[in-house]
Amino acid sequence: MKAIEIEAKSALHKLKRRGLPYKYDLNIYRGCSHGCKYCYGESSHKYLGNTDFNKEIYVKSNIIEVLERELYSSKWKGDIINIGGVCDSYQSIENNYKLMRDILKLMIKYKNPIIISTKSNLILRDLDLIDELAKHTYVNIALCITSSNDDVSKKVEPGASLPVERFRALSEISKTKANTALHMMPILPFLADDEDTLETLVKWAKESEVDYMLTGMLYLTGGIKKRYLSFIKEDYPKYYVPYCRLYPKGGADKDYKSKIHGFLAEMRKKYNVNNNYSKALPKKTTNI
Ligand code: SF4
Repeated sequence: MKAIEIEAKSALHKLKRRGLPYKYDLNIYRGCSHGCKYCYGESSHKYLGNTDFNKEIYVKSNIIEVLERELYSSKWKGDIINIGGVCDSYQSIENNYKLMRDILKLMIKYKNPIIISTKSNLILRDLDLIDELAKHTYVNIALCITSSNDDVSKKVEPGASLPVERFRALSEISKTKANTALHMMPILPFLADDEDTLETLVKWAKESEVDYMLTGMLYLTGGIKKRYLSFIKEDYPKYYVPYCRLYPKGGADKDYKSKIHGFLAEMRKKYNVNNNYSKALPKKTTNI
């Protein structure tokens, strides 16, 4: 993996999309070494030219000073910031740069609410700062977990922490005042959509004491479809044709989706895990 340091002109990016519990994104890295086969972030990298999204990681080396300037500005109204919405802030390069520690210290200084979602248990390194920030303001930490099976995880998300490590991270963070969530996204047809796997994930979410869980189906649009299907052809050849049938377009077949969502609703009821993220949100800070 190659780190390429760049200077950021701004840190906070205002989102055009409505219906989200936050208006601003903050990404400290461009590129992501988790290497998820279904990665949707790669398209955001294209403007940087012909680079390898998983191996060339752009580091916004001046992000702390730029962010502090923006948080200090009288124009900033303390909205929720979604940290790492495009590229995981706790990917392996963060072991060296440790930018997230300084980001969290700034959030504590300005008591600014945040949302983080990650696939890495490196987030536990910053548990002390998450705990401190959550005493002052809204903090929501989501671990994105798509399978309970290590072999599937190692193939589909080779650079991410193993599922059980991610659940352990959730359990630890749940002991703080931060809200925690399981993001079961994307649900992976044939690889991790059987009833045992789905039930295990909901059960582990309960045991990790998450405040809520969200689920989402795999979408195969644009370049993602070609890339993902060639991975399936190579690593899971018996599912290649079934995948092509299930995905005549970008979304999975309607009956399949309602079967999966129906089963997950049953499991949420059985284990008493809700899917209502808005309950924990602070008032007047969303753009919903
Ligand atoms: S964690 Fe997100 S950005 Fe990183 S490779 Fe996976 S899907 Fe892409």
